[in-house]
Amino acid sequence: MPRDFLKGAQDEYDVVVIGSGLGGMTAANILGRAGHRVLLLEQHYKLGGLATWFRRPGGHIFDISLHGFPYGMVKSCRRYWSKDIADRIVQLKNIRFENPMFSVRTTFNREDFTRLLTSDFGVDPAAVNDFFDTARGMNFYDDQTTTTRQLFDRFFPGREDVIRLLMEPITYANGSTLEDPAITYGIVFSNFMSKGVFIYEGGTDDLVSRMEKELKQNNVDIRIRCPVEKINVSGRRVQSVVVNGRTIRTRAVVSNANLRSTILDMVGSENLDSSFLDEAQAVRLNNSSTQVYMALKPGETVDPDSGDLLFTSTAPLFRTEALLSRDITSRTFSFYYPRTRPEGKQRHAIVSSTNANWSDWADLNEEEYAASKQDLIETTLDALDRYVPNIREKVDWVEAATPRTFNHYTQHQLGASFGTKFEGLGVSRALPQQVTGMYHAGSVGIIMSGWLGAMNYGVIVSNEVDQFLADGP
Ligand SMILES: Cc1cc2nc3c(=O)[nH]c(=O)nc-3n(C[C@H](O)[C@H](O)[C@H](O)COP(=O)(O)OP(=O)(O)OC[C@H]3O[C@@H](n4cnc5c(N)ncnc54)[C@H](O)[C@@H]3O)c2cc1C
Repeated sequence: MPRDFLKGAQDEYDVVVIGSGLGGMTAANILGRAGHRVLLLEQHYKLGGLATWFRRPGGHIFDISLHGFPYGMVKSCRRYWSKDIADRIVQLKNIRFENPMFSVRTTFNREDFTRLLTSDFGVDPAAVNDFFDTARGMNFYDDQTTTTRQLFDRFFPGREDVIRLLMEPITYANGSTLEDPAITYGIVFSNFMSKGVFIYEGGTDDLVSRMEKELKQNNVDIRIRCPVEKINVSGRRVQSVVVNGRTIRTRAVVSNANLRSTILDMVGSENLDSSFLDEAQAVRLNNSSTQVYMALKPGETVDPDSGDLLFTSTAPLFRTEALLSRDITSRTFSFYYPRTRPEGKQRHAIVSSTNANWSDWADLNEEEYAASKQDLIETTLDALDRYVPNIREKVDWVEAATPRTFNHYTQHQLGASFGTKFEGLGVSRALPQQVTGMYHAGSVGIIMSGWLGAMNYGVIVSNEVDQFLADGP
C-alpha cells in the first residue's frame, strides 16, 4: 500500500501554503508564529525549493543556489526566522571579473565600486555618485518605462565596459536584462551595493534544517511528497485544496508555486475575470540555467586567491543573447572552500552557472540530451582549467544540471530560475482581488526573486494573510 504522506493531517486549516521555497516557508513560519493553523504542502521529498542541495558518494555535497545574496538577508532571517540563522550569514570578499574588457577584483560594495569606476575605469566621480543615488532611490511601484539600457546610457553613455561591470552580476543574480525595466536592476543592484555579497555558512542543508525546526516549533504542519492538484473556489472564495486524493478545507491559500501554474492550472480560468486571465496568460517566464558541479578529491585544494565568485566571459562585449546562448561564452564559478561548511568534511567544490534557454534543451531526445550534458561538462572543465590548473586531475565528481533538471525538481514551467518577468508582479499582487483568500508569494517580477526577494515577498504576503484572517470570515 502506498505511504500516506497526509496521515494525521486535519481536514481543515486556517491557511494552506503550497510549496516550501524560501517564500513559502517564510510565509508559513510567520503565520504559524502568529498562531494560525498552517499546513505546508511540498510536492518534492525535500524542503527548500530552489534553495537546495544534493549529496554524492565520497562525502560530496553541492549547493544549487547558494552563490550570493545581499546583506538584507541578515535582517530578514533575524526577524522572521532566528538569530541562530542570521548569525551564520557571512560575506564573500573576493569577487572577480575576468573578460576581454577587464580583469578586476572587488568586495562588491558601493565604496569599492566607486573606487573601481573612478580609478580603473576613469568615470567622473559625480556621475558615479549620481548613478548610485538614483539606483538606491528606486521603488517597485516607480516608473516602469525606463529600461536598464536607458538608465546606463543616461549615466555612462558609450561605456560598454562599465555596463558590463554593472550588469553582468545582476543578470546572474536575477536573470534581468538590459531590456527589462530599470527598477529590476536598480533595486537589486542597490541591495548588493549596501554591503556586498553574502552566503550562509554551513550550507543550504544546514539552513533548511534549521528552518524546518523553527517551522515545527511554530506548529506548522509540514508535509512532503504532497503535490497540490487543485484549489477549489466557490463564489470567488477559496474553499479547499485537493492533494493526494484528499480535500482539505481552508480559508486562505498562499501559493509559492510558479505563478502561471498557480493561476492557470490550480485556480482555473473559470474563477477569474477574463481581463485578468489575459494578463496572467501574457506573463513571460524568466530564463533558466545550466550548472556544472565539480568536487575535488580529498586532499586536493583550490588556491583561495582564485576568488569566491568568479565572473568569466570570453565574449568581446556584454550581450543578453550571448549570455543565454547554448554556445556558452559566460560562466560564473562559485568556489566553496572548507570554510563554507566548517563542520563538514574538509572538501573543495566548484559550481559553474550559466543562464540558459529552456528551448535549447527541451526537445532533445535522451541520447542528444546526454551528449549535450557531457559537452557542457567538458567545455566547463576546459574553461575552468585557466583559473584552476589541472582541474581534470583534481576532480573527483562532476555532473551537470540543465533547465530540464530545475523543471523536474520544482515544477517551474520552462525550468525558470527566477520566476517571471516584471509583469508577473502585478498579476501576483492582484490575485486576492480575483479570489478572496487566494494569495501568491514566490519568485515574480525579477525583484521578488532570488533568496532575499522571495523571502521578503513571503513576509509581505503573510502580513496580508494575517490581516485577512484577523478580519474574520
Ligand atoms: C541555478 C540557480 C542558481 C541561483 N542562484 C541564486 C543565488 O546565488 N542567489 C539568490 O539569491 N538566488 C539564486 N537563485 C534563485 C533563488 O534560488 C530563487 O529565486 C528562490 O530560491 C526561489 O524561492 P521561491 O520562494 O520563489 O520558491 P521556489 O524555490 O521556486 O520553490 C517553489 C516550491 O513550490 C513547490 N511546488 C511547486 N508546485 C507545487 C504543487 N503543485 N504542490 C506542492 N508544492 C509545489 C516546489 O517543489 C518548490 O519547492 C538561483 C536559482 C537557480 C535555479
